Amino acid sequence: MKKLLILLSVLNLLSLDGRSPNFVVIFCDDFGYGDLGCFGNPTIKTPNLDRMASQGQKWTQFYVADPVCTPSRAALLTGRYPIRNGMTSGERVVLFPDSAGGLPASEITIAEVLKEKDYATAAIGKWHLGHLPQYLPMEHGFDSYYGIPYSNDMDFVKGVPNYRKGVGNPNFYPDIKNYNVPLLENLDVIERPAEQNTMTQRCTLKAVDFIEENKDKPFFLYLAHSMPHIPLFVSEEFRGKSARGLYGDVLEEIDWGVGEILKAIKDEGIEKDTIVVFTTDNGPWLAFKTHGGSAGPLRAGKGTTFEGGQRVPTIFWGPGRVKPGTVSEMGSTLDLLPTFAALAGTKTPADRKMDGYDLSPVLSGEGKSPRDTFYYWARARLHAVRSGPWKLHVLQREPINYGRLAPMEGPELYHLEADISEAYDVAKTHPEIVARLLRTIKAHELDTEDSLPDQLAARIK
Ligand code: MG
Repeated sequence: MKKLLILLSVLNLLSLDGRSPNFVVIFCDDFGYGDLGCFGNPTIKTPNLDRMASQGQKWTQFYVADPVCTPSRAALLTGRYPIRNGMTSGERVVLFPDSAGGLPASEITIAEVLKEKDYATAAIGKWHLGHLPQYLPMEHGFDSYYGIPYSNDMDFVKGVPNYRKGVGNPNFYPDIKNYNVPLLENLDVIERPAEQNTMTQRCTLKAVDFIEENKDKPFFLYLAHSMPHIPLFVSEEFRGKSARGLYGDVLEEIDWGVGEILKAIKDEGIEKDTIVVFTTDNGPWLAFKTHGGSAGPLRAGKGTTFEGGQRVPTIFWGPGRVKPGTVSEMGSTLDLLPTFAALAGTKTPADRKMDGYDLSPVLSGEGKSPRDTFYYWARARLHAVRSGPWKLHVLQREPINYGRLAPMEGPELYHLEADISEAYDVAKTHPEIVARLLRTIKAHELDTEDSLPDQLAARIK
């Protein structure tokens, strides 16, 4: 018994003294649940992601907190619903180049939480949480920044052909000069318009450089690719290669980039100390036809609170720290902050309401996901709730023109395990579940009413 206690205390010390893991989040823009080989796509080739999934955990029920760019990003970085962190829809849906606001300084990001443990931090790619200096990544815990400050379709030049009209033509390829988006290095504009054809490639190489430079200390790398958000751009090496067309070319280049990042991690010998998460900020933008992605079996896409808008294909990879397998329990980007904090041996902010859970027991294979409920927000309004397999909608948006609410006769209830496509409303045959979930929705609305004044003032304008 005494020997066992000594052994346990030694093991405990070893884990306390062990290196805090590195975290890499690869966060893409607008791809769908059905766009990766490992999630069933038959024509887009994603061998690196498929290998990453087979060596790690494939999460099939993972959610983003909002179905559009700005609020989804704010939720990932803060572990809080946009209604709490200020990046909820106000006069507009997302931030634009003429927006005056951004993520409030009072919010605490993953980068700031990990700074408590002296992590090196970098943000690379699309930011979209405020382009003015006081809102850029270096004001939110990141040591450096390289990327575009908002969506790649913004700053479009007036009078250029409507992108939407071109997407029916298989030979259509956009011109970077029509989108006067700046490329920033830290606080400086280093290129305008950004050379978007090589953006995926250049952001990948920046990420590899950061990994190589910081291999000897814990680091957090947030790589937010601006693709495959329209207008689609890809480097020469990948153009015209995919059977799926330009959209497939773009995803295959992202897949190449994932391969380069995992290779760098292995080459530096830090694969046992690194956890990589790959996912996307919202579902596919269906209005853009073949230039948008596929939600696979899920209903609708970007901008909606159907599963196609908010359930995102997600992979966790980390040899030695992530037990391989398929996880069919619930998780969310809201959970990354508490999960990383737990694994790094630091704390989540205690002075505010948080919406995430620590998923580390699932990653190690030692426990179940603590998340059994998920709230679907869009445009500052609570649209639906999921509790276990049941999902109740009280508001819905139109699938293509998601700016409009869709008419409903009453709350709709779906059993997501039996009906992944939300095709069969069973509200009438399960009134007791409808009543319970209506109470859950009411309680969450009351819980989110007391958002701080500066967060409410920060609403997207
Ligand atoms: Mg997006």
